[in-house]
Amino acid sequence: MVIKTATFVCSNTQVSALPPPVMPEYAFIGRSNVGKSSLINMLVNQHGLAKTSQRPGKTQLINHFLINESWYIVDLPGYGYAKVSKTSREKWEKFIRAYITKRESLQCVFVLIDSRLEPQQIDIEFCYWLGEKQIPFSLIFTKADKQGMTTTQKNVASFKKKLGEFFEEIPSTFVSSAEKGTGKDEVLGFIHEVNKD
Ligand code: GDP
Repeated sequence: MVIKTATFVCSNTQVSALPPPVMPEYAFIGRSNVGKSSLINMLVNQHGLAKTSQRPGKTQLINHFLINESWYIVDLPGYGYAKVSKTSREKWEKFIRAYITKRESLQCVFVLIDSRLEPQQIDIEFCYWLGEKQIPFSLIFTKADKQGMTTTQKNVASFKKKLGEFFEEIPSTFVSSAEKGTGKDEVLGFIHEVNKD
C-alpha cells in the first residue's frame, strides 16, 4: 500500500471525544521507549508525525492520524513506566482499556515488543488481557537492526511459546526496524488486507 497522505487529526484523553468511528483504525501500543513513534513515522514516511523520544510516560493521549483519507493510525500511550504515579497509571488503564474494549472501528491492536529482550511479563500479560477481551491483535518486534537475526528469532520464538500457553492460535507477527525500514511492506500489506474486508 502506498501512503499518499498522513495527517495528525486530534489528541484525546476521553473516549467520548474521539472522532466518529466511521473509518477503520489500527492502534499501536507498547512499553515506553519500545520504538512506537519511530515505527509510525517509518510506516507513513514522515519523520515528525508521531513525536519520538518524549519523556517516557509523560504524554497520556490517544492520538489519531488520518491515512490516505480513509483509515486511522492510533498512537496509544506507552505502558509500564515505573515512574508514573499510581493515580495516573490507574487513569491510564481506565481510559486505554475503555478505548480498546469499546471502540467499534478498531480493527487491530499492534502490540510492539522490543526484539532485543526475552519475553517480558508486562507484555505477555497485556496480550493475555487482549485475548480475554477478544480484541484482535498482532505483534511487531521492534529495533531488529540492533542485533543479529538469530537473537531476534530466538526472542520471537520464546514470546510465541509463552503466548501458546494461553492462545490456540498465535497472532500475526512482524519484525521491524525503523532505522532500516524493515517490516514496513508487511505491516502495511496486512492493514491493506484487513481494510479490504
Ligand atoms: P516510543 O517511546 O515507543 O515512541 O519510542 P521512540 O520511537 O521514541 O524510540 C525510542 C528510542 O529508540 C529512540 O532513541 C529511537 O531513535 C530508538 N529507536 C526506535 N526504533 C528504532 C529502531 O528500529 N532501530 C534503532 N536502532 N533504534 C530505534
